[in-house]
Amino acid sequence: MSCIGILLCGGSSQRMGFNKLTAPLGGESALQRSAALLAQSGCHRLVIAVTEDTRPGAEALNVAVPVTICAGGETRGQSVLNALRAADSQPGDIAVIHDAARCFQTQAAVRAAIDSAQRTGSGVAALPMADSVFERETQRPLDRSKMVRTQTPQAFRFDRILSAYEQTGDQAATDDAALYAKYVGPVTFTPGSELGRKLTTPEDWAWAKAMVSVPRTGMGFDTHVLGEGRKLILGGVEIPFEKGLVAHSDGDVLLHALMDALLGATSLGDIGHLFPDRDPQYAGISSRVLLRQVADCLREGGFTVIHVDVTVICQRPKLAPYFPQARQNIAADLGISEDGVSLKATTTEGMNDEGRGLCISAQAVATVL
Ligand code: MG
Repeated sequence: MSCIGILLCGGSSQRMGFNKLTAPLGGESALQRSAALLAQSGCHRLVIAVTEDTRPGAEALNVAVPVTICAGGETRGQSVLNALRAADSQPGDIAVIHDAARCFQTQAAVRAAIDSAQRTGSGVAALPMADSVFERETQRPLDRSKMVRTQTPQAFRFDRILSAYEQTGDQAATDDAALYAKYVGPVTFTPGSELGRKLTTPEDWAWAKAMVSVPRTGMGFDTHVLGEGRKLILGGVEIPFEKGLVAHSDGDVLLHALMDALLGATSLGDIGHLFPDRDPQYAGISSRVLLRQVADCLREGGFTVIHVDVTVICQRPKLAPYFPQARQNIAADLGISEDGVSLKATTTEGMNDEGRGLCISAQAVATVL
């Protein structure tokens, strides 16, 4: 008898805007965490149903048990069926079906499901209903003490769940237990865990990040020379002044320091590397365009910006009147609230090159999760 983990890595991540299964989540992706969970909880090998998006992550897995990769289907049900068929099972085997998006499920929940499937034919991780439940149409309150909500893993005698899937023809089936109950017999429910929450919405992702992350910080610094015939642009705001900052781009030293802080916090390099100043496509470009590109890079990496703080070092002109608009610009470009953006200015009391009006500098600190 062997336990075959069926790991489902299909489904799109449209609600997230990035691939939730392969994005970094505290050093390991959800896919890596779920594969390790099954391998460490009694599965002897894994069959992973993937999309083109998740295939590279599955191929790069480093787990202690053999892995077979198969194409997922249009629906969850079709992905399960594809994986069951790809598994090359033997009589007496157990299938342990698990959603990769439930990557914090506990080993105890997996072991309980497997143990139950060996004894009774099925073991489905489930939790009691903590909230009151109503039937919307009839306004009827339902007796929640009689109810459970199912999660994964859902473990079954392999031949029985395969036959249930082959009989259904209903490939929109979203729950293995429902099919088992319909075609095979009563399901045994086993203890799940609140940690087995499925990562579906941005709120789920924020919860997942909080589970694994300590905030990361980065710092940035930049200086540009003040010269004649240039516009002075700071934080995306054009500030009336007799000089402007000399640069390949619009010279927005405030945003440059900020971008380097964000890239530093996420170890994604620096702006000189991302936007080389020899590249003609960046000549005169608004630094806000670059900031939005940096924000996209962070999002693709699964990072969330918590807070940024910038100090501009400038003798003249007075900058405070322009900061409300600059804060708005930065918050909009980063997709965070203004409350997460702090801007400050200081003079150097006439000392140094900033104090003599030769240049403007900026220092920034960014905190990301
Ligand atoms: Mg610069």
